[in-house]
Amino acid sequence: MDLFIEVSDEDIRRERAKARELRKSNWWKNRIAQGLCHYCGARVRPAELSLDHLLPLARGGKSTRGNCVPACKECNNRKKDLLPMEWDEYLARLRDTDVAE
Ligand SMILES: [Zn+2]
Repeated sequence: MDLFIEVSDEDIRRERAKARELRKSNWWKNRIAQGLCHYCGARVRPAELSLDHLLPLARGGKSTRGNCVPACKECNNRKKDLLPMEWDEYLARLRDTDVAE
């Protein structure tokens, strides 16, 4: 993955606008209706799920169905606060917990 990809403000504005449209789609409404966080698997109310980009827009991610997932507030906040590497470690820990259960 190319971490040094050039992303212009214009690209990000366009993808954010697409994400807003995607949030209104039936596809998205069906996804959040399941009430499951993509990352930690927590069951939360659909209203508490936000649209998250697997590959962040700032790193060249797009607002496509394949790159947009529902995330609970906790995961959303962590992703914002953590460095990409720390976020990967967080996800690895979540997976370990799944195995242990
Ligand atoms: Zn979560």
